[in-house]
Amino acid sequence: MRLLVVEDERKVASFVKKGLEEEGYAVDVASDGETGLIMALDGVHDLIILDINLPGLDGLTVLEGLRKKKVATPVLLLTIRATIEDKVLGLDAGADDYLTKPFAFQELLARVRALLRRRVDTEPPLLQVADLTLDPARRAAYRGDEKVELTSKEFALLDYFMRNTGRVLTRTMIAEHVWDYNFDPMTNVIDVYVNYLRKKIDADREPKLIHTVRGVGYVLQVE
Ligand code: CA
Repeated sequence: MRLLVVEDERKVASFVKKGLEEEGYAVDVASDGETGLIMALDGVHDLIILDINLPGLDGLTVLEGLRKKKVATPVLLLTIRATIEDKVLGLDAGADDYLTKPFAFQELLARVRALLRRRVDTEPPLLQVADLTLDPARRAAYRGDEKVELTSKEFALLDYFMRNTGRVLTRTMIAEHVWDYNFDPMTNVIDVYVNYLRKKIDADREPKLIHTVRGVGYVLQVE
């Protein structure tokens, strides 16, 4: 899961980014409204945490801009004011939830999870390819009856593969969905992680599921 945080207060932004990364999310940060809007319009994020009070374009204008362009990414608004009028304005503009500053990280995390779950609820609860099963709600993976222990990055990678079974995924596609903007395309991080995943999923097992497509990328499928 990849999140975007639009927040001009550096302290708040880095505290939120660090906390969410520890929970296994990829996190991009924009420190003004215009940059936030441009990044959000990419449509690669699963959730946007948007401060209302921003230099340049304020949060509500960013939100309206997104919804006008039919970007339906869930938005959690951060505000210091929490009058009824402000909330109504935000919800009218297309926000999905509100959080009043200052907030505890645990509360932010609970709301992020709730919003992401709401999105996941419309998808099949279990992902399955051959005897490989991924349970997104419980963040667990199984090969046959055996549980496969994955780090949060490996889990995110496998989740992306399984949602795109049979489709060849280029390194760029993988980077866009599983890593953040700081990802350095000159490194071999993706190949390294795919190899970790392969060891856990495919070593000593049949059928092999993760395949290299030479010069292009990777595909997860039963061959
Ligand atoms: Ca602010």
